[in-house]
This record gives sequence, C-alpha cells and structure tokens, in this order.
Amino acid sequence: MRRPTVVGNWKMNASFAQTTELLAGLSEGWSGVHKAEVAVCPPYPYLAKTAELLEQSNIVFGSQDVSQHESGAYTGQVSADMLLDLGCKYAIVGHSERREYQGESSELVAEKFEAAINKGLTPILCVGETQAERESELTFDVVGQQLRAVIDRCGLEGVAKGVVAYEPVWAIGTGLSATPEMAQDVHAYIREVLGPEGEQTAILYGGSVKPDTAAALFAQQDIDGALVGGASLKVEDFLAICRAAD
Ligand code: PEP
Repeated sequence: MRRPTVVGNWKMNASFAQTTELLAGLSEGWSGVHKAEVAVCPPYPYLAKTAELLEQSNIVFGSQDVSQHESGAYTGQVSADMLLDLGCKYAIVGHSERREYQGESSELVAEKFEAAINKGLTPILCVGETQAERESELTFDVVGQQLRAVIDRCGLEGVAKGVVAYEPVWAIGTGLSATPEMAQDVHAYIREVLGPEGEQTAILYGGSVKPDTAAALFAQQDIDGALVGGASLKVEDFLAICRAAD
C-alpha cells in the first residue's frame, strides 16, 4: 500500500513571522495518528526554525531545491548533506518554475535527483507539460522525456527511491486544475514508465489543488496525494486537503 502524501510548497512566500504562525497552526491541526504523510517545504532560511517548530509534531519537511554537487565552490547552492543536517526528509527537484526561470534542463534535474538519493534525501521530481504542449498532444512525450532523463541517470530502482509529482504547468498557480480523469491518465502513464520497480512510488498531483477538488483527485487509482502551492499557505485549506488524503 502506497502511503498518501501531501506536500506544501511555500515557494518564496511567507515572512518569518508568517512561517512561524503557519507551522504552529499546522502542527496543532495535524496532531494524533494519521495514515497520510504531511510535509512542508519552506524557503531555505526558515528550515532551521521549521525543524525546531515541527520537532514535536508528525509533520515532516523538505527543501524546494538541492545542489547537484556534494560540496565545493558553488556560491549560493545548498547540498543534500546540509539539508539532511537540518532534518529535511524531502527535496523538490525540477519544479517548473526552476526549469523556466533558472533554465534547469532535465539532465541537470536528473543530477540533482541523483545527488539526493545518494545521500538518503527523498527527491520529489516534478514533471509536466505546458499549455501549448498539451494542445499539441505532446503531454506524454514531454512527461516521458523528463522521466527518462532521470531513469537514464539513476535507473528504475533509483527513481523508485523518490516521489514523482505530475504538475501540468498550465495548472500551477492559475486556478485551473486538471480534471481527475485527465490527471489519472498521465499518472497511469507515469506508473507504466516507472515499471514494476515503481509500484510503491508515490505519484502526487500538483496544480491548483484546493479543498474542494482534492477528494475527487485522490479517489483516482494512481493519484497518491498532492504537491500544493497556494493552498498550502492557508492553514485551514491545507489541513482540509491533508484530511482528504488521510
Ligand atoms: C506548485 O507550485 O507546485 C503548485 C502546485 O502550485 P499551486 O497549488 O498554487 O498551483
């Protein structure tokens, strides 16, 4: 049985004070025993405080990126070891915003994925097509190419150590969500590409997930949870999504 998983990606949002408030609200609201794993990915500078505030809770945390390098003269980068030192469980890699604004290629994303699994940090690999690619019926080609770059580098067994998030770029932060059926089609394809090794790999959906859309998405066979942006910045909305996965 794959464990339902909900991850909040806070991006470059929330001040230090708001982060503290969000973490307090979430740990209070998510106390007790749950089937679903809940994680948050705050900005780097707040990870140490996050570790402190989540110490007594059953919410885990991660980073929004990780360096492909182990250590060295790489100004501004943060290594997997450093993130593990802080207590991170996860690291998001290949988010479409980094692919677009930082020009990250699928090959670089694969290097980051490998750097994470080599150290025991769980990468959350984001894949997904743009609106134009969907309209040109290239969704499976694009998602397949993004996955294959990581498979070529880490093998199917390596990929199975991470989590995959299907995030159609046109649905991120736009309020447009893929329908459960559209998302399921791509999730089933991802599951097929991952092969038998990936049977237990969680495949999350991301793209404007809200409390009122979460349950129908999670009811799909290959949707194991969500990567949530905007709605993860509101305690009640994020908790409602987590409850729908639980
Ligand atoms: C994201 O950035 O990963 C995301 C899914 O954002 P949103 O939920 O705001 O669309």
